[in-house]
Amino acid sequence: MAKNITIDGPGGSGKSTIAKALSKDLGITYLDTGAMYRATAYYALSRGVDPADVTAVLAILGDISMDVKYVGGGQKVYICGGDVTPYIREYKISMAASTISKIPEVRLKMVELQRIIAAQTDCVIDGRDIGSYVLPEAKYKFYMTASAEIRAGRRYLELKEKGADVSFDEVLEDIKKRDLQDSTRAFAPLVVPEGAVVIDTSNMSIEEVKAKIKEYLC
Ligand code: C5P
Repeated sequence: MAKNITIDGPGGSGKSTIAKALSKDLGITYLDTGAMYRATAYYALSRGVDPADVTAVLAILGDISMDVKYVGGGQKVYICGGDVTPYIREYKISMAASTISKIPEVRLKMVELQRIIAAQTDCVIDGRDIGSYVLPEAKYKFYMTASAEIRAGRRYLELKEKGADVSFDEVLEDIKKRDLQDSTRAFAPLVVPEGAVVIDTSNMSIEEVKAKIKEYLC
């Protein structure tokens, strides 16, 4: 069985930065599961489907053949052979991903692929339901969090660097809405997984968080 490290937590908690850095240090794969929900949301929007319209999403779900590949050290998500990675970080995709990820059939499709990848290779895998639902038996489980203001501040800086036209207040509102939507959905919501080590990254540097996680790895 592959040895996996799960990192769950809300948007902006620093999970992806830490998961990426940690996987590099350990020489193992980084699986970003948020990218899979983002890719699904992007595909729905590109087909003119509203991510909140369950019937319409279910009608196109069977057309989605998703692949995750590692190219030049980075994860790429393909749908029907096309690389959608360049389009999934746009501001509007975050909320669309949160909305589409409420649909159990969407989640089950992503979870199936996540479990296949995690069974084949040691990986650091981040998301919302990894330690609680996807890989509850994982040896190492972490839950990262930070105040909504700090998380929004991090996202705001990221978006501004990319030239996005958003205000801090919009990003904060979006973070709070996604927190609520992700943690109150009926199927596999965002929770602290049983047995997970909780790390509040509000006042911690990347190096400090990495060092904290490494204290638990053996
Ligand atoms: O982590 P990221 O911000 O890229 O995730 C985008 C959205 O995808 C989240 O807000 C969440 O709704 C959804 N997601 C999920 N389960 C995961 C990973 C992401 O529901 N394992």
